[in-house]
Amino acid sequence: MRKISADYIFPISSAPIKNGIIVINDSGKIVNLLSSSSGLEDVEKYEGIICPGFINTHCHLELSHMKGIVSEGKGLVPFIKELMSQRAADSDFVQQCIKDAEAEMMANGIVAVGDISNGSDTFSQKAKRNLHYHTFIELYGFLDNQADEAFENGRVLGSKLEKQNSIYSLVPHSPYSTSQQLWEKICQWNIENKGILTFHNEETEDENKLFLDGSGSLIELMKWFGLDTSFWKSTGNTSLNSIKGLLPKNTKTLLVHNTMTTVKELSSLNMELESPYWCLCPNANWYIERKLPNLDNFIKTGSKITLGTDSLSSNWRLSILSEMQCIKKHYPEIRTATMLSWGTQNGAELLGIESNFGTLEKGKSPGIILITNSNNGEITGSSQVVKLI
Ligand SMILES: [Zn+2]
Repeated sequence: MRKISADYIFPISSAPIKNGIIVINDSGKIVNLLSSSSGLEDVEKYEGIICPGFINTHCHLELSHMKGIVSEGKGLVPFIKELMSQRAADSDFVQQCIKDAEAEMMANGIVAVGDISNGSDTFSQKAKRNLHYHTFIELYGFLDNQADEAFENGRVLGSKLEKQNSIYSLVPHSPYSTSQQLWEKICQWNIENKGILTFHNEETEDENKLFLDGSGSLIELMKWFGLDTSFWKSTGNTSLNSIKGLLPKNTKTLLVHNTMTTVKELSSLNMELESPYWCLCPNANWYIERKLPNLDNFIKTGSKITLGTDSLSSNWRLSILSEMQCIKKHYPEIRTATMLSWGTQNGAELLGIESNFGTLEKGKSPGIILITNSNNGEITGSSQVVKLI
């Protein structure tokens, strides 16, 4: 039995407890939360904030070997070109980087990950179950006649994960890289298998330009991929508005990045879908585009936010606290309590693991972390994570 106290305990499911105490049994399960230590012995006392383990809802663990390789601040299309042309690497090196990246996430208090996979490089590490993973097998296919092959490749990867009892969903990469036929196959699969849909959404202004009138740099990217771009039909609408009719109403859906998403788009999707979640990856946005989404829009529309690190190809580290520090730098008025709910409870709900993760409540084993160098219950630029359980 451990009794742990800190300046603030953030259960997330209830109000912060100043100088609270959390009691944990030998198997790491929470047995009590107390507001006073009077009469208690052997209380471990820490300076800072105690909260549940973090949920990283968008990562690409398989790109961990690309840390520091792709140039910063050039925009999405140069980023993708550099990434694709430098992605190949020695498989032992790739495996070691995956292992190291997972260890980094664990040290940074992350307990569960929604992880994008194009291939099977991460599967053996996931089989070790050091963290809870939901693998999003990501499918591409610009043309309708590529849909069957892309979908079949996804099914083959999925059966590998099934054999090792790992959880997964089949997902589209983005509105612009997924043909209507492939969208329909993927959505149908998620309806039948109670999956989670996720895709990169409106990461750059040029994504909307492509859909609006076929202009911008993404059409160049398609040519770079060797495609005859005469297949492309603009819709006269934004990227999200062009595909939202395809989204199943009752399937949990996580839209990632959302840098250009407007209040109108947020409100209407929040109304139309039963469980929409909006993943912000501020460090990756800054790395690639030097631009962040307008967070005020998400807050005023009551949008359910989660946080993601994206991959080490577009981030300096895999840390949810670091994502919060980036937000705090650009939006100092956003409270730590609010950001913590994005990085814990909302992510756990999205991944369907809220019965054990995401909040500090009796009977749960959500991981317990300490955030140091806080200022009266607020994180600071020098805060760090110490994993307590
Ligand atoms: Zn991504």
